[in-house]
Amino acid sequence: MATIKLELVTPDKGEILSKDINMLIVRSTAGELGILPRHANLLTELQPHAMKVKMDGGETLVAIGGGFMEVTPEQITILADSAELPENIDVDRAKAAMKRAEERIAQYKQATKDSLIDIARANSALARAKARLLVKNVPFN
Ligand code: ATP
Repeated sequence: MATIKLELVTPDKGEILSKDINMLIVRSTAGELGILPRHANLLTELQPHAMKVKMDGGETLVAIGGGFMEVTPEQITILADSAELPENIDVDRAKAAMKRAEERIAQYKQATKDSLIDIARANSALARAKARLLVKNVPFN
């Protein structure tokens, strides 16, 4: 089966994954993308999401906290704001982050004017937490 090299790095942890894979399914700011070997050149921004990596006859999910992806026919390079493999995700921490984000969003919706809550930041924190729980297969509402 044809392969394409995946390099996934983050600023604080360096290399998270470096592997020949068969297919990658990511959520870009323009929508979901499936990347196969020999894909056309592409540069895009990624949303926080659970990215699907197909390799070695199986598949695994990786939590991505947003970032950028460059694709060439031979290689996919992702510079993510944060990224965690399933075995490195702390579920309780993600649940706590999700609760905090939901509380901030609720406060923002109730505030009449000039709320000090950064709603974009809260939405992004919520999306990161949900991606981590999805990767761990933990249900949430
Ligand atoms: P928190 O509020 O719990 O810090 P966050 O979404 O704000 O969550 P990030 O800023 O995305 O956290 O990540 C900071 C660092 O902590 C990154 O290295 C990231 O991989 C790691 N990290 C964040 N949440 C978790 C988690 N639930 N399990 C494991 N690592 C995590």
